[in-house]
Amino acid sequence: MKLKLLALAIFNFLILISVTMSPLSAQPRVIETVTHRFVEAQNGVWLGTGNGSVYTMSNVMVLVGANDTLVVDSHVTPMAARALLDALPALTDKPVRYLVNSHYHFDHAHGNQTFPAGVEIIGHEFTRQKLNGESSNVLEENTFRSFSDPVALTVSNLKRLAVAETNPDRRNQLQGRLKVQSEYLAAIAEVKPTPPNITLTDKMTLFQAVEGGTREIQLLHFGRAHTGGDVVIFLPREKVAFTGDMMLPGLPYMGDGHVDEWPDALEGLKSLDFDYWLPGHGPVMESKEPIGKLQSYLRDLWLKTGRVYREGVSWEQAAGRIDMTNHSANFPQISGAGVDPRAVRRMYQLLDQQR
Ligand SMILES: [Zn+2]
Repeated sequence: MKLKLLALAIFNFLILISVTMSPLSAQPRVIETVTHRFVEAQNGVWLGTGNGSVYTMSNVMVLVGANDTLVVDSHVTPMAARALLDALPALTDKPVRYLVNSHYHFDHAHGNQTFPAGVEIIGHEFTRQKLNGESSNVLEENTFRSFSDPVALTVSNLKRLAVAETNPDRRNQLQGRLKVQSEYLAAIAEVKPTPPNITLTDKMTLFQAVEGGTREIQLLHFGRAHTGGDVVIFLPREKVAFTGDMMLPGLPYMGDGHVDEWPDALEGLKSLDFDYWLPGHGPVMESKEPIGKLQSYLRDLWLKTGRVYREGVSWEQAAGRIDMTNHSANFPQISGAGVDPRAVRRMYQLLDQQR
């Protein structure tokens, strides 16, 4: 229940910033489809977000070229990816040639299987290992289960609330949410983790033909951060970076993170020359300032966790005790002492390995 509240808080926070911040100075082109909203950050560079009618969970980036299209990330289920593929003709008639995974997490890669055979899937070699089930089955890991197991409960709660609701407007609203969550629950059962068939270690560059020239697309791995294989998609000419979950407007999930190495990877991100960054969740961002704020949060969290670890405090207790409220001005979702237990458990794992 706590986790659900946390997820809700993060979700509300993201909604809040999406209405209060609009960094694109010129009026950007926006295209709405039945399931998606696409905002054009630069010519042919689109940030796509689900509009809530299908549960998509994460952003996508779509790069439209003269002959083909490149998509970054595939949403949370085959169903969500199908909705994305159905929406793309509103942007372009050029076929998808490449799908890039920013990292292996379910909400960015569990739509992979829906892309037609012949679409090349590119990702970090770690992303391939994970989605290929080389060390363990991602469907059985804490991250996937901690987000997906509660969906059945959400569905039954919504059913109960919809039946009990007497106000017709609120009942309609609840029934709408029930439909989306029930479809999401059914779609989770269809997931067959599908790994990239082209991998990179540190860097790969693609050159996409665009009207009047070539678009350089750099895929960059700056070291372990949010996962062991985060890839930043950087367009040097358009000055746009897609950061996945390595850098979000709020605090990212840390349950598979390398909190000790993450700030260094963010230093790599900082070194890029971009005007806009498109996060894996949330709106188009402009300022680089949040990067420094996340670095300082992560360094402090690692320090404080190390301290209680050495005192012999269990990770469960530590999760309630670690106080990060000194960062609440930068991260309004911090409302008191305590951090996500999944993050602390993960850091304890890393500290155990480093002993
Ligand atoms: Zn993630």
